[in-house]
Formats: sequence, structure tokens, C-alpha cells
Amino acid sequence: MAEAKLNIAIAGAGLMGRLLAWRLSAMGHQVTLFESGSLDKPAGACHTAAGMIAPLSELYHCPLPIYHMGMQSLQHWPQWAKQLEQQTGTNVDYRQTGSILVAHPQDRSELLQFQQELTAKLGKENTGQLHWLDKNTLTKLEPELDRFDQGLWLATEADIDNRKLLPALHLALKQSDVRIHENTPVNCTPRKIHTASASEQFELVIDTRGLGAKQQIKGLRGVRGEVLVVETQEVQLNRPVRLLHPRYQLYAVPRADHRIVIGATEIESEDMSPISLRSSMELSSALYSIHPAFAEARILETRVNCRPATMDNMPLLETEPGLIRVNGLYRHGYLLAPALVVQVEMQIQQTTSDTAQVTRCN
Ligand SMILES: Cc1cc2nc3c(=O)[nH]c(=O)nc-3n(C[C@H](O)[C@H](O)[C@H](O)COP(=O)(O)OP(=O)(O)OC[C@H]3O[C@@H](n4cnc5c(N)ncnc54)[C@H](O)[C@@H]3O)c2cc1C
Repeated sequence: MAEAKLNIAIAGAGLMGRLLAWRLSAMGHQVTLFESGSLDKPAGACHTAAGMIAPLSELYHCPLPIYHMGMQSLQHWPQWAKQLEQQTGTNVDYRQTGSILVAHPQDRSELLQFQQELTAKLGKENTGQLHWLDKNTLTKLEPELDRFDQGLWLATEADIDNRKLLPALHLALKQSDVRIHENTPVNCTPRKIHTASASEQFELVIDTRGLGAKQQIKGLRGVRGEVLVVETQEVQLNRPVRLLHPRYQLYAVPRADHRIVIGATEIESEDMSPISLRSSMELSSALYSIHPAFAEARILETRVNCRPATMDNMPLLETEPGLIRVNGLYRHGYLLAPALVVQVEMQIQQTTSDTAQVTRCN
């Protein structure tokens, strides 16, 4: 029997909204996407992010289900990125060359603690995913890290250039028959989208408004993150590098054109004002400690946004008849989105159930 195709509204064209619109439209559903801002200049956290897909690095801060979902996403990203590139003729710079963790000699215990914590959390699932590097093997992978005597290589981790992915998804949506309403803030109720002046009926509404859904999702909060984008031809990194430090954690994610995304602060605040002097100095000096040639790097951009997070920092996938809410992707949007998209696709296939249910991903 042919599967029923639905008339679906998606509220919010951030990462989740765009990915869902792209996938559901390709499956034959009629999709209408509502965005409060513009798709060319996204205001959501997705635009600010560094685009790391790092289940092991995140496991240090998070419980095991985040790692499991991240590993599921890693199975989808390569194929989805390729498909999107073929469809749009653009490049999204998906790369799976792992991440490298280093610590200064005086902070060596940070590396050991990281390894012990992950080994304990992974238990039997630890199948040689953490590789100790001595100076020789470290500098073979990353010649510029010659100030460090050792490091850890998390070889399965990946990253994607979000500043290329988001426009590529936008282009793919324009090429499909997705209806896009920009500059249209909406509210969501089961099977209904409410704009300032009218309500429109759909068979299913999917709410992916991130922090824009704060009034409807109890306990949803924003966690401020600040990022610098620098440009330098003096230091060349091949993959994301994380500096472990007791006070200043830092990542440096290399992008095309000698750009490097440096981040990120994590502050319990919904303040979206520009980066503070203190954060900018802490990020810059931690970066300088990786390689002194960073002193001459040019700061191209500072980014600030708030990550949408639930009370327990776990993603939320909430379903009732006619309405699905996906939110709380916190610091793992790129890590978790494909796994969550697949869960939503499965729920849509089971729309016959009319019993309200709330699924927490833990
Ligand atoms: C500094 C920083 C670094 C990060 N780095 C990483 C990383 O390296 N890896 C990773 O996995 N994750 C990272 N993240 C997290 C990631 O960006 C988020 O988890 C992800 O963007 C959440 O996606 P979303 O689609 O749920 O929400 P968002 O990306 O915030 O999108 C929500 C969308 O809804 C729209 N909207 C809001 N209200 C309304 C309304 N009323 N009507 C219509 N539309 C509305 C918004 O304009 C926006 O476009 C980072 C986040 C930050 C801030």
C-alpha cells in the first residue's frame, strides 16, 4: 500500500527546520516552511556554530545517549552531504579526519583525565577510538602542533562548514516545491500555524523554532556562546584541534581560505549582545598559546548566539497528534540533527497513533 503524503508545516528554518524540510519534501510530502527572519541571513544558533560533529569530545561533558545519537548521525552525514552537493552543485566541506586534543605540559593531567573519563563512560563500547599520539605521530598529523609533546586523536570525528551547508539547504529547498515564508514569525498548535494576522491548517505541524519556542516549552533556556573567526596564512591546521586547559577550553576549526573558527564560551545567559572583551581576550590568548604565529592572525568576525537548551541539556522530541516539537539541541545541533531527523521521519510513518506521548531522549 502506498504511504500517505502529508501537508506539513515547519516553523523555524534553522538547522533542524531546513534539514527536515529537505528530507520530508524529497519523500514526497508537501512542505511549507515559516521563518521569522531571512534564510539568507539566519538568526538562529545554527549560523553561529562551529559545525563540529564530535561524539567523543562531547561525551566528556554529556551522558552516553548523546554519544549514541551522535554516532548514528555520523552514519548519515557523509551521504546527506554528498547528496546535497550533487543536488545543488555546491560544496559543504564535510570532512571526517578526526579531532586532535592537546594540553600544555603543565596541564598534562587534563589529557589523562579526558582519556580516563571517556574510557569509563564507553566501557565495552571503547573499541580503540582514542589514539594516544607522541610528539612524532602528533606532528605527522598536525605539523604546526610542534610545541606539544603528546595528544589524543579522536579519529572518527567529523565537521561540516555550516556557512556552506545552510545556504546549500536553502538552495535545495528553492529547487524543490517547498513553500517558504520568510520574515513570518509564527506560533504552533496541533495542525495549525498562527501568523500575526491569520491561522492556516495543516495535517502536521513541526515546531523547530529553537529559542523562539521558549513560551511553549517549559524550562527551555538559552546558553550564550561566543566565537571568533580569524584568518592567517602562518598557521595551517588540517582538522579541529581542542586545547584542554583547567580554565580556558578552546577549539580551533580550520575552514577554507585560511579561516579558523575559534570557540567557544559557554555562559548561562540569554544575552545576545556583542562578544565581551574578557571572552575575546581569553579565546585569543588560548589560541596564541597553541602557536605564537597566531599573534598576526586577523580577526574577521565575532559571533554571538544562544544555544537552545532544556533543563537537563538533553534534546527534546515531543509528539502529540498533529504536532511534533524538536528542540533543546544545545551544543550538539550538528552532532544530533540527522539522528533526530530520522526519528521524526519514523514518527511521521506512525501518524496513525493518536495517543499523546512525550519522548525524552534519555
Ligand atoms: C557558539 C556556538 C557554537 C556551536 N558549535 C556547535 C558545534 O560545533 N557542533 C554542534 O553540533 N552544535 C554546535 N552548536 C549548537 C547548534 O548551533 C544548535 O544546537 C543548533 O543550531 C540548534 O538548531 P535548531 O534548528 O534547533 O535551532 P536554531 O539553529 O536556533 O534555529 C531556529 C530557527 O527558528 C527561527 N525562529 C525563531 N522563532 C521563530 C518564530 N516565532 N517563527 C518562525 N521562525 C522562528 C529562528 O530565526 C531560527 O532560524 C553551537 C552553538 C553556538 C551558539
